[in-house]
Amino acid sequence: HGEFNQKIDYVFKVVLIGDSAVGKSQLLARFSRNEFSLDSKATVGVEFQTRTLNIDHKTIKAQIWDTAGQERYRAVTSAYYRGAVGAMIVYDMTKRQSFDHVVRWLEELRGHADKNIVVMLIGNKSDLSTLRAVPIEDAKEFAQGEDLFFMETSALESTNVETAFLTVLTEIYRIIS
Ligand code: GDP
Ligand code: MG
Repeated sequence: HGEFNQKIDYVFKVVLIGDSAVGKSQLLARFSRNEFSLDSKATVGVEFQTRTLNIDHKTIKAQIWDTAGQERYRAVTSAYYRGAVGAMIVYDMTKRQSFDHVVRWLEELRGHADKNIVVMLIGNKSDLSTLRAVPIEDAKEFAQGEDLFFMETSALESTNVETAFLTVLTEIYRIIS
C-alpha cells in the first residue's frame, strides 16, 4: 500500500510506559493496526510497531515501543528509552494505583530520557466510566503541574487514540523542525 516507495523524512521513537494491564499494548494495536483484543496476552516478543503518516507534508515514521512485560518498578532498561523523542505514560482510569504510580514512571523517564522529550499522560479505558477511580480534574492538575499533555482514551472504543498519538508526534515535529 501507500507506505511502499515513500521517502521517510523523519523517524520518531515514542515509548509507552505505565503499570501492567493499563492498556499500553492495546493502544499500540489500535494506533498501528486499528485492532483491539479483550484478552490480550502479556506482551510477547515485539519491541515496537511502526506507522507512517504525514505531518506538514513530511513523511514521518512513528516507531512506537511497547514494554515486553517489564513493567515492574525499575525493570525497564535504559536501552528502551534511548533515542526516544516522545513518551506516553499510561494509567487505567478505573485503577487508582496505576495513577498513583505515574510519578514513579515520570521520575524514571526523566532519569533516562532526553530532557526535551515530549510527554503525554494518558488515562485509558474511558469506556468504563461507571468504574472511574481517577477524577479527570486530578489528572489534569497533575499533568499541568508537570508540564505534560493529557488525554483520556479508550483503546476499545477507539476514542482519542489517534488524537493522542498525533498530538505527541506533531509536537515532536514542531520542536525539531
Ligand atoms: P498492558 O499490560 O498495559 O499492555 O495492557 P493490555 O493492552 O494488555 O490491556 C490489558 C487489558 O485491558 C486487556 O484485557 C485489554 O483488552 C484491556 N483493555 C485495554 N484497553 C482497554 C480499553 O480502552 N477499555 C477496556 N474496557 N479494556 C481495555
Ligand atoms: Mg502490554
